[in-house]
Amino acid sequence: MDLPRYDLHCHSTASDGVLSPSELLNLAHEKGLEVLALTDHDTIAGFNELKALNRNQVKIISGSEFTCQWNSRILHIVGLGIDSESAKLKKYFVHLEFLRTQRAKEIASRLIKMGLPDLFSDAEKAADGGSIGRPHFARVMLEKGLVSNEQQAFKKYLGAGKKGDVKIEWPDLSETISTISESSGLSVLAHPTKYKMTFTKIREVIAAFKELGGAGIEVSYPGVTPDQHMHLNRIAKNNQLMISAGSDFHSPNHGWTDLGKFPPLKETENHILHRLLG
Ligand code: AMP
Ligand code: MN
Ligand code: MN
Ligand code: MN
Repeated sequence: MDLPRYDLHCHSTASDGVLSPSELLNLAHEKGLEVLALTDHDTIAGFNELKALNRNQVKIISGSEFTCQWNSRILHIVGLGIDSESAKLKKYFVHLEFLRTQRAKEIASRLIKMGLPDLFSDAEKAADGGSIGRPHFARVMLEKGLVSNEQQAFKKYLGAGKKGDVKIEWPDLSETISTISESSGLSVLAHPTKYKMTFTKIREVIAAFKELGGAGIEVSYPGVTPDQHMHLNRIAKNNQLMISAGSDFHSPNHGWTDLGKFPPLKETENHILHRLLG
């Protein structure tokens, strides 16, 4: 089976993306995509909005990008084909919303200590009822002229190791995978080369992920090199995992990615779309 044109990883205003789910769907249609999974951080609210629109040009797959931890490392798991009505999933996301709000309060108070004004309520406004995260703080800093771009906000205040990179007890990888499985979804390890891990460590994570019930890994996304792509394909094969791909699109203003855009796949026989569409 030839694969349709697709994107299995992108964000809307339900988390840290800038297009509403409806605008994203229109863009997907314009770009000629046939299948789209909206994967907002720790929420499925955008999918529910898309379902309600009831447009049929693009096939919508339910999804979310779950933030979790494994041995104190933060990992992102894309859950695909999940049942949005699952009680277990709903409860999980209510908890995540609470965790993210607590974390946002802590981020704001750390930033105050660094001499910035209290940004909590503005960040909350920027999140507009969606999953609040560091990008909302970056946006507010830019609006207030505290930084000259969002990248600088991460570099100075919010990125890995900076004061605004607040560590909290995210759910454990095992809990995330079991929640996705029990909600009839498939777990996909997002962007494996974006965690600042060596390939030895990546292999270790992926073996643990498979053992816990993981179904697939992303092998193509913005920034992945041909060499990394080849290694990831091989690791998927060795662990009997399916492969997936997506743009991680957040905003038309980000030069580094666009909806539906990621390096072409070397092989597709083991693609998770076969399962999702089959
Ligand atoms: P959070 O979910 O609050 O941990 O924020 C993570 C999100 O911040 C990612 O999904 C990206 O959208 C964004 N992000 C992370 N690191 C950077 C960075 N260095 N520059 C710009 N955006 C970033
Ligand atoms: Mn994001
Ligand atoms: Mn991610
Ligand atoms: Mn993402």
